[in-house]
Amino acid sequence: MKIIADLHTHTISCGHGYSSLEEMAEGARQNGIQILGTTDHGPNMPGAAGLKYFEELWRIPEYIAGVRILKGVECNICGLDGSLDVPDRVLQNLDLVLVGFHPRCGYLGKNVEENTRSLIGAISHPLVDLIVHPGNPMFPIDEKLVVAAALEYDVILEVNNSSFRGSRKGSWDNCTAIASECQHQGVLMAMDSDAHISFDVGRLDLSQKLIETVGMDAEQIINTSEEKVMEFVQRKRLYKAEYSYK
Ligand SMILES: [Zn+2]
Ligand SMILES: [Zn+2]
Repeated sequence: MKIIADLHTHTISCGHGYSSLEEMAEGARQNGIQILGTTDHGPNMPGAAGLKYFEELWRIPEYIAGVRILKGVECNICGLDGSLDVPDRVLQNLDLVLVGFHPRCGYLGKNVEENTRSLIGAISHPLVDLIVHPGNPMFPIDEKLVVAAALEYDVILEVNNSSFRGSRKGSWDNCTAIASECQHQGVLMAMDSDAHISFDVGRLDLSQKLIETVGMDAEQIINTSEEKVMEFVQRKRLYKAEYSYK
């Protein structure tokens, strides 16, 4: 399956990334990626950039090294209601709002019920675009309910390549179950590298294998065409523009 966009990557600005944005774009170009989502961790991640960093992303040009740059963030879920560590006024101006559970970033849920409620709370937020590594075994969820919520709120679920390389051990079976459920319910998925260094941009070998095993059609993977990615971003921009926050 040919992948032309990588919607989840990090730079040196997140505190544990190893490449600048320019290097990441060059890595994308070299690896055949035409659209790069730069989505550094939200401020609750130890070492992450502050809110000001995300407020100033407008300074980044639309293209670097011929690669289209989508400016975003990977928010941390903090509350049992799915509340995030980045305020709406900042999220509203971003191209990509990624959200997920991360250890030591403020979330205190303890079981499937709490994790599911919290994740669905985040999915129902009109500014949220994509849920990162939903198969993380540290934060088990009810897959059926989460996939149904993703369908209802037009949110993408991710197959995160880094999860299978050591970031989140034991993700394979959960991600297979989530992908099968997405296939069954017709929910869009993204394959993302979650690269923290330029060489890994577009590295999706294990996600590809999982999607092949499940037998999911390329149609259901958003980052197989520039049109599909940009159509999604534009559609969500409309929701974002209409949304008025407190
Ligand atoms: Zn990271
Ligand atoms: Zn990440």
